[in-house]
Amino acid sequence: MEVKCQVCGKSVMLETWSAEYEHVKQSPQHPFICQTCQDRIRSEAKSNQHL
Ligand SMILES: [Zn+2]
Repeated sequence: MEVKCQVCGKSVMLETWSAEYEHVKQSPQHPFICQTCQDRIRSEAKSNQHL
């Protein structure tokens, strides 16, 4: 299954056995964010807390 990251627009292939695939399947209306962007958002949120 191919999904598009809502942040960077990159197409990502999700394996049917992966946790992300289950997540997208269960909530298809929920925007998909790739691992790279998730990590970046998480680290940005972390650095914002320190300001
Ligand atoms: Zn992304």
